[in-house]
Amino acid sequence: MASFESLRIMNPILKALQKQDYKEPTPMQAQAIPPLLERRDLLGCAQTGTGKTAAFAIPILQHLSQERTPERGRKIKALILSPTRELATQIGESFTAYGAYLGLKNTVIFGGVSQVPQVAKLSAGVDILVATPGRLLDLMGQRRVNLQFVKYFVLDEANRMLDMGFLHDVEKVIAQLPRERQTMLFSATMPAAIEKLTKTLLIDPVKVAVAPVSSTVDTVEQSVYFVNKQNKIPLLIHLLKDRTVVSALVFSRTKHGADKIARKLTQAGIAADVIHSNKSQNARQAALGRFKDGQSRVLVATDIVARGIDIDELSHVINFDLPEVPEAYV
Ligand code: AMP
Repeated sequence: MASFESLRIMNPILKALQKQDYKEPTPMQAQAIPPLLERRDLLGCAQTGTGKTAAFAIPILQHLSQERTPERGRKIKALILSPTRELATQIGESFTAYGAYLGLKNTVIFGGVSQVPQVAKLSAGVDILVATPGRLLDLMGQRRVNLQFVKYFVLDEANRMLDMGFLHDVEKVIAQLPRERQTMLFSATMPAAIEKLTKTLLIDPVKVAVAPVSSTVDTVEQSVYFVNKQNKIPLLIHLLKDRTVVSALVFSRTKHGADKIARKLTQAGIAADVIHSNKSQNARQAALGRFKDGQSRVLVATDIVARGIDIDELSHVINFDLPEVPEAYV
């Protein structure tokens, strides 16, 4: 079994990993970190839960720490593109955690909220920028973001970028990046459009694939209920009345459905928060925060917004609608 030490990770990062209580690298990390430290490009076929964020964040932090530039002249040297605001926030938190002893700065930008605080952080100078494509293009258009010093570029969740219609925006961002750089692309699936993108984006990449797409993990117990449509909500209420359900994330295919489920649960005396893309960013973060800290027990969410969100000690996931693609279920 590989250890983090054997991957030649620098001490301040090892210390931060210890603080996170990471005992050993995940298979994704064990395979990706060494070639990334050698500055190879990487094509990672991996979904959330494989530890892919640390797999790209650790080498980037280590390189930036070794190539330190003066405090006052901080330039964006690493850019991470993420499809959703929630994932972008999570990635930013990971950089902060793994880089706790390095003194590097990261910031996260996304749409749906005022750009003013984001612009202020950018002008103060950051080393690492995590962004959703739309807001990044906006700020690039306003000349508030300078990408000419980017040496490390990560395209995360490329398949979801495609599903959400962001691929064109992503390509516009890529066109502005310096050619000389290290590029990492992660995708849970390889549709033709992504495969094509990898050919133009990556130079002689190392390929790392872990856990075939659409395989579930053994530690999760699964069950299915066959019910008529009109019985779905009553069944959900019945299941959630069971107090052994410590926390439950309920997925709905549509925003309308999510609102309806939350309303019916609340009427039945089960307090439920709801998040989807029609809710304001602040409301979404607040609801997610309450759920993550255990203040609320039930969170109803649409797939698009909440898949891939990482919640410690989640006891139950309920797919109210049959997911349309296997990876979404996994
Ligand atoms: P990710 O696939 O990057 O979204 O990571 C999924 C979860 O695994 C996150 O909660 C990480 O904090 C956690 N994690 C990542 N690497 C490790 C590790 N080596 N040991 C334990 N937990 C980890």
